[in-house]
Order: sequence, then C-alpha cells, then structure tokens
Amino acid sequence: MIIDLRSDTVTKPTPEMLNEMMKAEVGDDVYKEDPTVNALEERIATMFGMDNALFFPTGSMANQAAIKMHTQPGEQLIADKYAHVYNYEGGGVSFNSGVSCKLIDGHRGMITTNQVLESINPPDFYHSPLTSLVCLENTTNKGGGACYNFEEIKKIKKICDDHNLGYHLDGARLWNALVAKNETPKDYGQLFDTISVCLSKGLGAPMGSVLIGNEEIMQKAIRIRKVLGGGMRQIGYMAAAGLYAINNHIDRLQEDHKKAQEIGKVLEKLSFVTNVEPIDTNIIIFTIDGNEEEFITKMAKKNIHFYGMGQGKLRFVTHLDYTQKMHEYFLEELKAI
Ligand SMILES: *Cc1c(COP(=O)(O)O)cnc(C)c1O
Repeated sequence: MIIDLRSDTVTKPTPEMLNEMMKAEVGDDVYKEDPTVNALEERIATMFGMDNALFFPTGSMANQAAIKMHTQPGEQLIADKYAHVYNYEGGGVSFNSGVSCKLIDGHRGMITTNQVLESINPPDFYHSPLTSLVCLENTTNKGGGACYNFEEIKKIKKICDDHNLGYHLDGARLWNALVAKNETPKDYGQLFDTISVCLSKGLGAPMGSVLIGNEEIMQKAIRIRKVLGGGMRQIGYMAAAGLYAINNHIDRLQEDHKKAQEIGKVLEKLSFVTNVEPIDTNIIIFTIDGNEEEFITKMAKKNIHFYGMGQGKLRFVTHLDYTQKMHEYFLEELKAI
C-alpha cells in the first residue's frame, strides 16, 4: 500500500470514469465538432449561470488565457503574494501578457477589500502601470486550502466595478470551497468576469480545466487558447472524464475534508509538531521541530509520501485515491512515530 499525500493531482481515473471515457462520442474540437466537449462546456456554463465555457488542457493555460483577455502589455494585475498565477505558472504573466503583478501580503493567500483598494494605481498617474485586473484564488493552494469569506469577494467586486477592473477567479479548487462553505457555482458566476476550474484536482479527472465567462469577454478565449497551443482535436475522451467527475465526484469532497480534519487532530497531539495551520478543506500545512528531510525520508520508508514546502513547512493533501483503509493505516503510523 502506497500512500501518496503529495497532491490531489496524483489520482487515477476510476473504472467507472474510464468506462465513460471509452464510450465518449468525439469529433474535432478545434472545429467545435466534439459533442462531448460541447456538452461539458454547456454543462459548466449553466452550472455557473454564465454564457460560455471553454475546455483547456491545464489550469495554468486557462488562467493565462484569462489574464491575456483582461489586460494589455504594460498593465498590472493585483494578486496575493502566494497566487498560483504568480508563483507556479512559469512567469507566464509576463511572458504571455507582458503584465506585472502587484503582490499583496494577504492572509493564507487571501486578500481584503482595503488591500485591493490600496493597490490600485491612479489611472491618470501615467508613471505607474495601469491597474486592470484583480485575481483571487479560492481555495488557496499555497495558503493551505483556505476559503474566502463570500462577503469579502462581494466587496472586492464592488471595488472592481468602481475602478473598471476585470475580476478573475482562479478556482482550481473552487469545488472544495463550494462543498466546505455550502455555496453554489451561481454565487460565483454572478460576481466574476472569468472563472477557471480544474477537473484534474479533487475531482479526479486525468486532465483538463474549464474557463467560464460571459459572452463579450469569452469571444477572445478561443483565439488565445489557439495561440497558446491549446486547441485540441478528439478531446471528448477527456471531457467525458470531466463530465463524469462533475456528476459524481463533487459531493464526496467532504470525505477528503473530513480525513484532513482527522489528520490535523492527530498532528496537534504530536510533541514534535510545532504548528498546524487551520484546515478548511483538503490541505494540511504544519511545521515540525526537527529536520524536515529526515521526517520525509522516515515516512517514505513506510510508503508514505508528501512534500516539504520550504521555510520549515510540510504539507499533506487528501484526495479521491486516499482511501479509508490508507487513512487508518496512516493515522496509526503518525501516532507511532
Ligand atoms: C493546480 C492549480 C492550477 C492549475 O494547474 P495546472 O497544473 O496547470 O492544471 C491553478 N491554480 C491553482 C490554485 C492550482 O492549485
């Protein structure tokens, strides 16, 4: 038994998901002739109450396309210092869109209305880059799966409207937030101009993200996806996995959250654990007194795998392929260490 808590991206398609993939009706999606991709896009657009959705190979490409749609070279976007768009998309913000990031020192990857307000450059002050976009992340990745308070998201929307800023949500793990906070996709669809969601994280599909938005801005999306090299052909096989995941793997995210809570409770009792960050969803971040590498190696010998995050932090991520049996074994091993 190998326990892999490195990320919720390590899951493999279930037999039922594979079966749906094998049965998929496909066509050339670059010509928009793949019925399964079209069904997935329509399904997700409807879920969010937005006009359009477009299937992307990765979440990074969906975010990068959105940033390109909202900005012109030389402009600036506002994001938390932990943002995936800034830290983990290979510098794509500057490479693809020629924009800079105004980074906010937020709390667990989340930013506040006042911080956004203070970060907007006055549009007539031509010495500074023109602020044109605010990017939020929910749940936060580097922030430890934290969920925004929805009221804050609403208040930031008002600031975006008042200052003519685009509003993009990196919702790679939005599904986890919806389940944890009992919110709906439509709540989010009403507020954001564009939203990216991943099918390949907690939902367990082998690949794919979807960018959702309203008609006007989404007109640009398909061209930008092509420019980025993301036009795919008979990709309905993968869209079928995404559809299956949407239909079957959202509600069960609460099991991942429950397991994460249980791991947190055990960690808190261990003498060498110095801090466990609050656990909102499926990500557990903690620090230990002692050598992290040694701890990682020791656990690896027991077939338990996870990552260090630097600065003394360690991380576990629960997911679809982390079963109850693995969970019980893992908790016993943790307690025994
Ligand atoms: C995983 C992730 C993405 C997308 O990553 P890809 O590996 O490109 O699919 C985007 N944002 C956040 C917050 C993520 O965790």
